[in-house]
Amino acid sequence: MIEIDGSMGEGGGQILRSSLALSLVTQKPFRIFHIRKGRKRPGLMRQHLTSLQAAARVGGAKVEGDVIGSEEVTFHPSGIHAGHYEFSVGTAGSTMLVLQTVLPPLMIAEGESMLILRGGTHNPYAPPFHFVVETFLPLLEKMGVHVEADLKSYGFYPAGGGKCEIRIQPSQNLAPLEILEREGKCQVHAVSVIANLSSQIAKRELKTVQGYLGLNKKQIEIRAVESQGPGNLVFIEIESDTVKEVVTAFGERQVPAEAVAKRAAREAKQYLESDVPVGLHLADQLLIPLAMAGGGAYRTLAPTEHTRTNIEVVRRFLDVGIRMEKERENAYRIEIGR
Ligand code: AMP
Repeated sequence: MIEIDGSMGEGGGQILRSSLALSLVTQKPFRIFHIRKGRKRPGLMRQHLTSLQAAARVGGAKVEGDVIGSEEVTFHPSGIHAGHYEFSVGTAGSTMLVLQTVLPPLMIAEGESMLILRGGTHNPYAPPFHFVVETFLPLLEKMGVHVEADLKSYGFYPAGGGKCEIRIQPSQNLAPLEILEREGKCQVHAVSVIANLSSQIAKRELKTVQGYLGLNKKQIEIRAVESQGPGNLVFIEIESDTVKEVVTAFGERQVPAEAVAKRAAREAKQYLESDVPVGLHLADQLLIPLAMAGGGAYRTLAPTEHTRTNIEVVRRFLDVGIRMEKERENAYRIEIGR
């Protein structure tokens, strides 16, 4: 049985989600202990439990320790069962983190799957829906997996109420992927999304982003959307011929709109000033698909703790080599292969 120390490296929910995904992909059982040990409220929280339960259904798995607060879980998968699933992540837990858990197995399953996910669609500390659709899924498409994602309603913390539908057409033969250069001129587009909030917030955010990145009027957009509660985020799309990066910052109470916008703009600037194609978050999320394909390479910014930890987890389940080489400050090359 594979043993995973949940407190290693980044020490958060990602270790559990990656272990679940990889256990389903490889059909190897595992035990994880010290789940989120260093966190304020250690153990499984509602959103982690939903990912665990979703993985258990997809894998027909036998599970121990699947209760809130649990710091130890064992997971014995039995198959990957494509099908029609509905998963609800409490009120506003991230639906995209549930997707992150069950997509790797379902993308190599023997039949198509349809997921209906309810909860948050745009959450801090999780891939926002737009990032998944614009950045992540097109790369899976290049690997041979076709995923359609349809946003039915936006869900923001804390009111939630979001819904999305995901249709997965799997492939048993994933193609390795290389993303080494950022080709062509980058097109930049900034969007401020607001739900049940004053449009002044969006205007102030976009003015800040415009000033910081030198964008013209055609490159900015206010998107007023419906949702059960208030919500605000700024996302900046940076599209080259190779990849479309989406950086995001979330509006928060007590944080001025200008400060929120600046967070996104700074991350966009850091990406634009480098020449690498793969941004901070995509870097940790590409590891599992490329390891499943048995090969690939990409150049990215200085790896986060998430990326380093994900590499460790992948190594526990799959017999692939993962090499990381620093080219210079903020330019790293990650290579996956046997
Ligand atoms: P954790 O913090 O351990 O729950 O994991 C968070 C996951 O969400 C990681 O895979 C991150 O790469 C991803 N993530 C967090 N923020 C963003 C963002 N702004 N854009 C895309 N992915 C994100």
